Amino acid sequence: MSIVYIVSAPSGSGKSTLVNELFKMVPHLDFSISYTTRAPRGSEKNGKEYFFVARGEFEAMIAADEFLEYAEVFGNEKVRGEYYGTARRFLREAEARGNDLVLDIDVQGASQVKEKIPQAVSIFILPPDRENLEWRLRSRGLDAEDEICRRLDTARREIENYSKYDYILVNKVVEQSADQLRDIVLSERLQRSAAELSAEEKRRVDRAQACRLEQARERVQPILASFNPQAGKGT
Ligand code: 5GP
Repeated sequence: MSIVYIVSAPSGSGKSTLVNELFKMVPHLDFSISYTTRAPRGSEKNGKEYFFVARGEFEAMIAADEFLEYAEVFGNEKVRGEYYGTARRFLREAEARGNDLVLDIDVQGASQVKEKIPQAVSIFILPPDRENLEWRLRSRGLDAEDEICRRLDTARREIENYSKYDYILVNKVVEQSADQLRDIVLSERLQRSAAELSAEEKRRVDRAQACRLEQARERVQPILASFNPQAGKGT
């Protein structure tokens, strides 16, 4: 059985970089390329970042039960959102190859997958604080001012869902976070194997355990507070 890893993060948290690094370090991993009705941005290519499809095609796939999960994501001032979905076939294909599968999906999608596959492993990547996220969003120069404000507000709402995830990764230093992500992925494999663990493997499991939700709650509180300046002021 393939292990399904769900990775979610607010936009600008460095998720894509960490997932790319993960694929360089860990073999036998497949990436699920989502379907979306949104238009390609910048250098995005059909079949690489996403499969870009028309709304009608997406809805036909929903009707044919081709999605493991899908969500309609709303932007500002839009009556209709854009669809994003994970095709079931990616899981079938990963299983056939004997590989595990990584899903880069949002909080709504993560809940749906967890309901269908309770043994899926979910990982939430957090920026160190609001200021850092704002700086990253500005420095990548992709978004206009109102878009940055909207992304920060969306980030705040997403971060409030952190406790639905199994692991929390605070992305301060990319190299360290990439190593932590690798440790989480490999540790889950080790824990499901029947073999006796070596001392090195046990250390890896211990390092991954430090990122488990129960260990992370205290670290998350100040991050949440930085996104909620009014909270706790009694206003
Ligand atoms: P973007 O349009 O910036 O590429 O992605 C917007 C959001 O959609 C991100 O949070 C991303 O994780 C999420 N997303 C991408 N693919 C899927 C998917 O297949 N299902 C769900 N539920 N969310 C997705």
